[in-house]
Amino acid sequence: MNKKTESIHKYEYKTEMKQLLNLITHSLYTHPEVFLRELVSNSSDALNKARFKKLTDKNIIDPDAELRIKIEIDSKKQMFSIEDNGIGMTEEELVNNIGTIARSGTLEFLKNIKEEKKKLEENLIGQFGVGFYSVFMVADEVTIETRNAASDSKGYCWKSSGEGEFTIEEINKKDRGTKIFFKLKDSAKEFSEEYKIKQIISKYSNFADFPIYLKKEQINKVTAIWHKRANEIKDAELNDFYKFISNDYDDPLGHLHISMEGNVSFKSLIFIPKKAPMDLMRIQNEKSIYLYSNKILIQEDCKDAIPDYLRFVKGVVDTTDLPLNVSREITQSSSVMGKIRSAITGRIFSLLEEWAEKKTDKYNEFYKNFGPLFKTGVNSDFSNRDKIIELLRFESSLNSKGEYTSLKSYVSGMRENQKEIYYLAGENRESLEKNPNLEYFKKNSIEVLLLSEPVDVFIFPSIGEYDKKKIKSIDKADIDLEPQDKIEKPDDNLSKSLISLFKETLGTKVQDVVPSKRLVDSAVTLVVGKDGMDSQMEKMMRMMNQHTGESKKILEVNMNNPLIKNLAKIQIAGRNDPILKKCITQLYEGVLLMDGNLSQSADFVKRMNEIMEDATK
Ligand code: ADP
Repeated sequence: MNKKTESIHKYEYKTEMKQLLNLITHSLYTHPEVFLRELVSNSSDALNKARFKKLTDKNIIDPDAELRIKIEIDSKKQMFSIEDNGIGMTEEELVNNIGTIARSGTLEFLKNIKEEKKKLEENLIGQFGVGFYSVFMVADEVTIETRNAASDSKGYCWKSSGEGEFTIEEINKKDRGTKIFFKLKDSAKEFSEEYKIKQIISKYSNFADFPIYLKKEQINKVTAIWHKRANEIKDAELNDFYKFISNDYDDPLGHLHISMEGNVSFKSLIFIPKKAPMDLMRIQNEKSIYLYSNKILIQEDCKDAIPDYLRFVKGVVDTTDLPLNVSREITQSSSVMGKIRSAITGRIFSLLEEWAEKKTDKYNEFYKNFGPLFKTGVNSDFSNRDKIIELLRFESSLNSKGEYTSLKSYVSGMRENQKEIYYLAGENRESLEKNPNLEYFKKNSIEVLLLSEPVDVFIFPSIGEYDKKKIKSIDKADIDLEPQDKIEKPDDNLSKSLISLFKETLGTKVQDVVPSKRLVDSAVTLVVGKDGMDSQMEKMMRMMNQHTGESKKILEVNMNNPLIKNLAKIQIAGRNDPILKKCITQLYEGVLLMDGNLSQSADFVKRMNEIMEDATK
């Protein structure tokens, strides 16, 4: 038995950890049984690390021991323990890895969930790197005994009741690895029953890479199902395997089973999930591809097996063409990996193309979830750029919200003498619909693609053209518009003098003032000069603190608008009324306000009050 050798060190959890623990232990989880999945998954990671270390360090403790997980239960005493002979932990690792929140933003997220009185769905637990702490759902006090695999390591015992603090004490521990044990709370005593443990393991951990023993009996299958022939794998087995590697609770949206022999040989199972994680766009440690060499895991998150914009897929790749002790540097530069990557990428594209053509609902579901990341491939993967462009989907002014169109179908629906593909970028569908620049297009039923994902402004303009047709933002001043049909011819001299009054009033605030061909209802709008930056793009750059300099816009004036007509009349009457200039400034600042670009609203409101005072005299 373990003998106490040194005094006990007490540690306080950081404040945010205390809050987090409180949230976890009280009320957040819906399924306390997930604690077992989390512990098995940690043990399995630790065993993989031990197997890996053995390759480079012959002196590790127990080099020949069978790599396994042992679970022991005692239903009378309500005791539970799980033990692995994996890599173990040093004292420093105990302090740093257990006891801190790995990912920023975790606490805020959990607090929000609590405030909204939602339950934390099981599939989110794994995402936050707080897996170990799920044990406090089922236990009041937890003990960890651990010893790192290095031959000169020492054993440690960690204890905590999941409240304010934990203690660490040096102990004698003969074997390497980690044992975690606790007395189950009364509400969780079922987890000391054999049938229950078997049931949970077969639900969550059947595919663990190592045997799991319960009372000497192995209770999981250790099968590399990707080695089977495609027609030998049952759907249920595939779904279970997907859930095991992804920690998802849903079935996948689709999968690929790849088996290649030739100048590079590998087998692979690739899954496309149904739902995107909340932080899809953030590059982080979410595992995507597990790399195996003949059934032995050699890299947990092999970034080089797929291009970055496809990192939402989950799966395994198994090849004997790479050495067992392959490092990240090697996979990065290896030509074997390059071939595997392009083969997998090609197959993913074939699958997506098939969905896009024959299973539109499925494709749209995929696109809704993963589109924002998938699209970024346009700028990063030149060899597949054209394929990605064909697979892009858009909302458009002719479709209702949530409906998609492609560039191909846009082009086939173009008006007879329409030469360009039009788009408008903005924050969301609602504000896009209200944009005055859309009025002409709506009136004439000319389709405009409506882009509202933040990434769109970086991707779409860079496409440049499609099917030899220029892609143009309708924010631009030089759009080739046909003159409007029933346009009331404004008196040329009249409009000229009003326009020059606009110019005089606004001075250097605008690049130019011109009569508008595109406005139908609104009085004025701002457009971008030929070489200017799209206004949504400019906003994004500003948000990212990229100083773009103040770009001046062109003000277009709708000579048919009643207010503008009134202003023109006042002007001909020869009254050099101060109300004219006030209205002009107000109109200009009004558009800025709508675009979210008016930095100073006090003057705007003051002027508006003066105008109202005038009007109510
Ligand atoms: P996650 O597994 O998501 O990183 P956990 O809270 O479950 O978060 O575990 C935190 C860390 O503690 C792990 O990343 C690992 O470094 C360490 N750890 C947990 N369990 C074990 C174990 N059985 N053996 C070795 N290290 C472990």
